[in-house]
Amino acid sequence: PVRVTDVVCPFCGTLCDDLECDISDDGKKILEIYNACAIGAEKFMHSQSDDRLVLPRMRQEDGTWKNVSYEEAVEYTAQMLSNAVKPLMYGWSSTNCEAQSMGSKVGELCGAQMDNTATVCHGSTLIAIQDAGVPTCTLGEIKNRADFIIFWGCNPAHAHPRHMSRYSIFPRGFFTGKGHKGRTFVVVDPRHTDTASLTDYHLPVEQGRDYELLSALRVVFHGEGDRLPEVVAGIPKETIIEVGEKMKAARFGCIFFGMGVTQSISKNHNIDMAINVTRDLNEFSKWSIMPMRGHYNVTGSGEVWGWQYGYPFCIDLSRGYARYNPGESSSNDLIERGELDAVFVLGSDPGAHFPFSAVKKMNKLPCVCVDPHITPTTVVADLHVPVAFVGVEVGGCAYRMDSVPIETHKVVDPPEGVLTDEEFLEKVYERMKEIKGV
Ligand code: SF4
Repeated sequence: PVRVTDVVCPFCGTLCDDLECDISDDGKKILEIYNACAIGAEKFMHSQSDDRLVLPRMRQEDGTWKNVSYEEAVEYTAQMLSNAVKPLMYGWSSTNCEAQSMGSKVGELCGAQMDNTATVCHGSTLIAIQDAGVPTCTLGEIKNRADFIIFWGCNPAHAHPRHMSRYSIFPRGFFTGKGHKGRTFVVVDPRHTDTASLTDYHLPVEQGRDYELLSALRVVFHGEGDRLPEVVAGIPKETIIEVGEKMKAARFGCIFFGMGVTQSISKNHNIDMAINVTRDLNEFSKWSIMPMRGHYNVTGSGEVWGWQYGYPFCIDLSRGYARYNPGESSSNDLIERGELDAVFVLGSDPGAHFPFSAVKKMNKLPCVCVDPHITPTTVVADLHVPVAFVGVEVGGCAYRMDSVPIETHKVVDPPEGVLTDEEFLEKVYERMKEIKGV
């Protein structure tokens, strides 16, 4: 076998770039994967499965699937988007920036509603950052400098399995030679998770009361901790004061936060307050805050649209220019209000992540799903287009959760004839130009 090094894992926002693969001598098959966590390794090995789809499938009137050519799939998609009055183009998180950019060209041509998976995860974070700014840093700085780490409303032991060993808790860096022994580690989570079992302090905040606990910490930072009630959000006052004082005394700290904060009561206001906690702490020490982004390139989708349109998600292109109004132009709201007449999904699985009521409505709309896997979204799609695995069978740019762009590498070729996301979108774009005569 041939060993390929510096492979980037296209699964979660940690975007580990130290993987190694053994591939067969003819360069066609991945035999073994090293350094990846279980979920990352599974993605590489799943791409090699023998029962993988290599042709698009069109749903028939009796509900069964019929294989069609890529040309037919391009024609169906181009016609669907060209004829729709208000199509949604959703997903964009599990693909490279090149495909995201090509998707924007298609979206502009049909005046689409463009939205990514932030709409159901860290969209509230993006809104809070627009409100309050964000004092943040890179994961490299965390590894080399941080001596105080907080995971708030997230469980990296399961969702980002190598985050703690590569960057946040265990590694030894330039100023952090003692590794985890030199770091104070706090988890704020109502549940006793596997991450919480490793900590110095687990604060089991009452569900949905993060805002109060964050506010209480600010009271401590301002020297008024004695005036707190005996218990705030389920946490004793003494514990809040003890942790708050240690946070002030840290040399370099970071609050990592997840959907336990962004999608519970108060949503973006929780993040506003967490950013203000971070800002307060910078009066005493050096602190940063960072969202634990899920899909490996959801950050990239926000970056690409940020520089193209000025907005990171929930973009309405129907008037020929970009408008942004989460709540009005967000996918679920559009679906629930029955405003859409076509849905195009690429690089995500709304069938698994959207409310059931929205998925039922999607099921009644013309729907194209571009995905190498069979997913709950393909179950409600009329056309399923299998594509190459980005990061395995095609390279391209992806943004890590700290907004650092990383070039992913192709390890093996896709099965013969299978298009990449970008190639499929480009063909759809060219066909739509013909249909629209532009
Ligand atoms: Fe892949 Fe994330 Fe696991 Fe790293 S932590 S190997 S990026 S799934």
